[in-house]
Amino acid sequence: METVATLEKTTLLLNPLIEKEDVKREEEPSCSHQHKQKLSLVSYESLPEFLKHNEFVINYYRSEWPLKDAFLSLFAVHNETLNIWIHLVGFFLFLSLTLSAMTMDPMNANAMKATSQQLANSTNTFLHSNNPVASVQLPMDAITVDMGPATELVANISRWPFYAYLCGAMFCLLMSSTCHLLSCHSKHTSYIMLRLDYAGIISLIVTSFYPLVYYSFACSPFFQSLYITSITVFGVTALLVSLLPAFEKPELRWVRAGLFASMGLSGLVPIVHKTILYADKPEALITTCYEMVMGLFYASGVVVYTTRAPERWLPGKFDLAGQSHQLFHILVIAGAYTHYLAGLVYVSWREVEGC
Ligand SMILES: [Zn+2]
Repeated sequence: METVATLEKTTLLLNPLIEKEDVKREEEPSCSHQHKQKLSLVSYESLPEFLKHNEFVINYYRSEWPLKDAFLSLFAVHNETLNIWIHLVGFFLFLSLTLSAMTMDPMNANAMKATSQQLANSTNTFLHSNNPVASVQLPMDAITVDMGPATELVANISRWPFYAYLCGAMFCLLMSSTCHLLSCHSKHTSYIMLRLDYAGIISLIVTSFYPLVYYSFACSPFFQSLYITSITVFGVTALLVSLLPAFEKPELRWVRAGLFASMGLSGLVPIVHKTILYADKPEALITTCYEMVMGLFYASGVVVYTTRAPERWLPGKFDLAGQSHQLFHILVIAGAYTHYLAGLVYVSWREVEGC
């Protein structure tokens, strides 16, 4: 009996402990439960301040996810999925354009001269074989395209500005994609990623000037150096300004857009200069047309980015698809691709003509 009583006493004594344990288990969820909770998508209100960028996108946020999970969310659906993939596809598009440009033969004027020489020879042979009476020899110079002194310069026309532009575009697209993928991890990661994103935008703008300026002013070294130096200094200054922690504040969206837009708009100076200098050159006019179209794409991108349309009219309706940032990303790729087409014209212009 005594043993039973002791057992009951012990059970009673243990029970409160067991109950406490149970409560404790309910209050502190298991690791896997915690992990699941951490990986669930949350609303704008539950976000920490550093992830609050657009109050018109209401749901499907990843908040402070572990780095590995943030990386794997590349293959999951959330409100950044399309932002990540649009620029990732853009990166691979520019990678393939770069590889094809690297295998592109130089548009060599010497080769063109040889071709026209062959044409002249075959024309003479044709005239003599079909008309034995013909005694008129076509003067070679009348058929051979006269490349003049430029022929010697052709081999020296470098493609580095074109490749620099392609690298700038690839860097911009890859950094943007990575920033959208990993910024949700922590405040520190977000700070680093946003700086890389700004650096990417600045590198795209600066390197866009290189083919324009280098090939347009290939025969005016003073202006070539002046414009290349100016935009590079402007870019480095913008990069330093973008390092300021305040630069990423949502309310400074207009300042960021203004800085990047003014960098782009300063391109009007060499473009107008080129058009005046080579008003009679079709290549100069074609490239100017491309540059105008590119400007339209980028300007539309700035408008969409700053106004946050269409989600401001219907908050929460464009969380997954159709939000302003996705449209902005598409417009950036369209602008960059238009400039690539202009770059092809610049390269062929100078490789054929020299200066
Ligand atoms: Zn973006």
